[in-house]
Amino acid sequence: MRIGIDLGGTKIEGIVLGDDGSERGRLRVPTPRESYEATVEAVVGVVRELEARVSARCRVGIGHPGAVSPATGLVKNANSTRLNGHPLDVDLKKALGRADVRLSNDANCFAVSEASDGAGAGAPVVFGVILGTGVGGGIVIDGRPLVGAQAIGGEWGHNALPLPRDDERPGPQCYCGRNGCVEAWLSGPAFQAQYARATGRELRATDIAEAAAAGDAAAAECFERYCDRLARSLANVVNLLDPHVIVLGGGLSKMGQLYERVPELWKDYIFSERDSIATQLRPPQHGDSSGVRGAAWLWPV
Ligand SMILES: [Zn+2]
Repeated sequence: MRIGIDLGGTKIEGIVLGDDGSERGRLRVPTPRESYEATVEAVVGVVRELEARVSARCRVGIGHPGAVSPATGLVKNANSTRLNGHPLDVDLKKALGRADVRLSNDANCFAVSEASDGAGAGAPVVFGVILGTGVGGGIVIDGRPLVGAQAIGGEWGHNALPLPRDDERPGPQCYCGRNGCVEAWLSGPAFQAQYARATGRELRATDIAEAAAAGDAAAAECFERYCDRLARSLANVVNLLDPHVIVLGGGLSKMGQLYERVPELWKDYIFSERDSIATQLRPPQHGDSSGVRGAAWLWPV
């Protein structure tokens, strides 16, 4: 059996999976706010409690924000900034008393989960996309996450929006310091701000999509622009990676019309025959559980 841990900014969730992928136990605790050390201790506590429940020593995989830098061995790019600058993998191995604990970026874990027994099961190349407060992604090839030279494989959120129209330049400012990043256009807060600017009304992203479906013209126009920007951005990924399946996750993946509209629009941008594009755009099968499941799947059977 293996344990998957989703180490988030507000909660630490753990799951035990049997070799058949069935869930044997689950535990969720709040992420301590006081310090990095307390966070490591809380992860250890979740592992110990889950192992006690199943009376077995398990292999442990952990999904976390950011990445462990191959250059320094320290966490970088984590929005839970307490983790940044610490050797999280070394500290967890020491605290758990075992030689091998597998860590990966949380978007990579989402992609691994959906590629293992979810919406991308059986597909050789899967691109998992997080559309939420931020925009991230993970690449899974033959069941394994692609780590790469900087451990940033799949981080398409900080590519520039492709083929910007005149009114899209220079684009909104991104926290990374540049303008016009995909994340600055396609995150939930970005989409809500676009709608608020156009209408003066505040709506959540999923409510904008619902209003569009119900015939609200302003919402429909905003949503169509969102779909076109997503189509352009994903087409760039398809041209480079040519994935068999793209799985959307995060809060905005619940906007059901995306799965029909975006593949219509990306035909104009993908470098292939319009009517034979095989790449599938799919909703996630494991929803909010993909993070923990993917962390456990860092240890394939
Ligand atoms: Zn950026």
